[in-house]
Amino acid sequence: MTNLSLLLERDRDYVWHPYSAMGSEQPIFPVKSARGVRIRLTDGRELIDGMSSWWSAIHGYNHPQINQAVRNQLQDMSHIMFGGLTHQPAVDLAMQLVKITPKSLETVFFVDSGSVSVEVAMKMAIQYWHAKKQPSKKRFLSIRHGYHGDTFGAMSVSDPINGMHSLFADALVQQFFADAPRCGFEQPCTESDIAPIRSQLENNHQYIAAIILEPIVQGAGGMRFYSPEYLQEVRKLCDHYNVLLILDEIATGFGRTGKLFACEHASIAPDILCLGKALTGGYMTLAATLTSYKVAQTISEGEPGLFMHGPTFMANPLACSAGLASLKLLLNSPWQDRIKQIEQCLKAGLEPCKNHNLVKDVRVLGAIGVVELHQPVNMQQIQPQFVEAGVWVRPFNNLIYLMPPYIISTDELNILTNAVTTIISNIQE
Ligand code: PMP
Repeated sequence: MTNLSLLLERDRDYVWHPYSAMGSEQPIFPVKSARGVRIRLTDGRELIDGMSSWWSAIHGYNHPQINQAVRNQLQDMSHIMFGGLTHQPAVDLAMQLVKITPKSLETVFFVDSGSVSVEVAMKMAIQYWHAKKQPSKKRFLSIRHGYHGDTFGAMSVSDPINGMHSLFADALVQQFFADAPRCGFEQPCTESDIAPIRSQLENNHQYIAAIILEPIVQGAGGMRFYSPEYLQEVRKLCDHYNVLLILDEIATGFGRTGKLFACEHASIAPDILCLGKALTGGYMTLAATLTSYKVAQTISEGEPGLFMHGPTFMANPLACSAGLASLKLLLNSPWQDRIKQIEQCLKAGLEPCKNHNLVKDVRVLGAIGVVELHQPVNMQQIQPQFVEAGVWVRPFNNLIYLMPPYIISTDELNILTNAVTTIISNIQE
């Protein structure tokens, strides 16, 4: 047996993959290394990356400057507990995040994954109202098609049907849901878009600690884009009904939609902000929950006088150093121009898909290109076809989408969009 087939056999026998079944016959591809936008498979094939490892590797892989930052940090310490101790990378990164996010966000709580940053945001909102002697405000309002992660709190605010978690429905806290807006990114937000969330607030605001939303782009719940006007209306409603606004920018943050943070499209700020994924340029797992002094002080001065959360790997120094290096790279690059170019290429390259019978919609925003089909794709068939075409694209359900690293060249982008159009035109109806 070759090393490669042994690896695959052992992988199948011992290792779970995301949203997978043990022993599954779904194709899986061993990776040897990755550099820039190229993923090198163990069998020698090279793939152009269209996924940025799920929105995170915005500078591509194996970037010399981030590598160096992590190496430097390794000389000092890879980890140290954060209870009673602090360190430069955490303080510097917190200050940078406060500087680049909307003005009202002034404090940073570091955690180890996006899902946990959502849990922390929800706990902050509950503790805030508890401290303000309104303990009945401990439920959340969200919109359908949302996705906020796989832990229990995050599952409870993700779409109850579409959010991959319907099986757990009875085990979750029952939250409030409103229909998602139908207005697309460039469309006005009408009364019929905003009425569902307004009516949930009218009826239930006394139980609602916060609204939680993905701003502008709903990711894993359907890759839907909606109007900035909707977000502006939601902000007004939150203020009117005394409800906090949590924005989950775990997927949209750090330039992906053409603004540094998607909430900037609407010129609004949340009370609590969740960041993750591209925070370290996809190097290591790190996420953050930011909030205002007002929320932070209310929690800190209320009962029990502490915020009740503190993970073992909080503010891991290696991850914070990667985060600082990644942010420096991003902010010192002409990233707005790059995202605009990527947007134009994606629009032009995916346009031909619109003519295909199987295609329901094609939409592009910033460095996100989505082809929505009428039916779910057959992953067992389609995944190897993308690999054969020399690209890494991982569809889910009825969505084939691209969100490449920002450093991708026009030629490489064309290879990605050509692969998508060709493979769609080969699908048997
Ligand atoms: N929120 C959003 C918007 C996400 O896209 C994701 C991950 N896809 C999460 C939260 C959860 O992040 P993680 O996988 O790091 O727990």
